[in-house]
Amino acid sequence: MLKAILPGSFDPPTLGHLELISRAAALCDTLVVGIGKNFSKKQILLSIEERIQVLRKHTKNLSNIKIESFSGLTIDFAKKIGAKALVRGLRSSQDLEYEREMAEANRKLAKIETIFLIAESDTRGLSSRLIREIAQNRGPLSSFVPRGLEKVLWERMQKEHE
Ligand code: ADP
Repeated sequence: MLKAILPGSFDPPTLGHLELISRAAALCDTLVVGIGKNFSKKQILLSIEERIQVLRKHTKNLSNIKIESFSGLTIDFAKKIGAKALVRGLRSSQDLEYEREMAEANRKLAKIETIFLIAESDTRGLSSRLIREIAQNRGPLSSFVPRGLEKVLWERMQKEHE
């Protein structure tokens, strides 16, 4: 039985995240999507509750998924819930360099393995940073973010810049 965590900030969730989640769910018995409360390196766009809601709504079709938030280290959260592995997506060689360090540290510190999934070419270019830039300029987001999120993001970015 494999219980794994897919950790991240998901601020905002993108279609790349959803694609990764559905592929990861197919590999595990239980997949916990963990929204790290202190992961956000930049300004917060959606609250943790909003991110949970969006992810829950758009993963309803997957029966083995849980969406939760956590604070502190991912390995501590993994131990707490009895997860044996982490799942991360790889979009680029920059991702790989960063992820390699994290994966080695997590394996040494907590004997937790990281499973990497190569991003799908259609959604590989999507990042939360790109979404923020487009939203800031009220650009079209419907092919990048889950349905219904476009307007919320426009409004949020507009408020930030008032
Ligand atoms: P973090 O802030 O920890 O990088 P993110 O919220 O940006 O977390 O992403 C969470 C996970 O989703 C990471 O493993 C990241 O590589 C993966 N991911 C993000 N965007 C994509 C995408 N477009 N395609 C595949 N995986 C992605």
